[in-house]
Amino acid sequence: MRTRITPTASTVEPNIRRIAEVGACDVGYSFVALSRQESRGGQCVSNVGEIYEAACLARSLGCRYLEVKSELTPDHHLESWSSQFSSELASELDRCDRLVSETFEVLVSQSLLDYFTTESAQPKSYVTCAVTRLRTLITPTGMYPCAYHRGKERFRLADLSESSLRDAWIGADLSLVDPSVDCDFHCSRHGQNVWIHGGDESVERGGKPDFFL
Ligand code: SF4
Repeated sequence: MRTRITPTASTVEPNIRRIAEVGACDVGYSFVALSRQESRGGQCVSNVGEIYEAACLARSLGCRYLEVKSELTPDHHLESWSSQFSSELASELDRCDRLVSETFEVLVSQSLLDYFTTESAQPKSYVTCAVTRLRTLITPTGMYPCAYHRGKERFRLADLSESSLRDAWIGADLSLVDPSVDCDFHCSRHGQNVWIHGGDESVERGGKPDFFL
């Protein structure tokens, strides 16, 4: 019988340290900034005050980076943060600057950068998605253009229980998805699409490489 092991800090942290010590690849992890209302009408709580501490921990474990991400709503729009948490978030990110060195970075996800600069909705003018070939998602229920459209029957490109991966890949009709109609929510690949489609938005984030493309 297989025993399910629930990961805890005491098991994950030594493993991260060990992988980092081997030095075969860049090791890092993500921090998802969240806020929650404790109960209906209750106090709103958030973990944004723990970002600096998470970055200290990542650095002490030998990580190459910590990435800070924004929570999205279930339909992929940016969460709206209270002004209290917004300023705490900005101040935590500022504090993290002092941890940055030649061997450690604090990366801020595109969604979090966009949170400070854009509206929650993200209208798109392009009608094909140029990054689906890089973000194609294969699940037990089928193959989809990207994680955002996972499980949506209309965008199922293939059923891997009925065709080979090769046939599914070659036969996938990626024009099924029209971002100008189907993706008005916040997509973290928007910048790359604009850049590939000839717009002037930079694919790089503040000059830093995108590790997750
Ligand atoms: S624009 Fe974004 S959400 Fe739409 S298909 Fe491309 S990657 Fe997916």
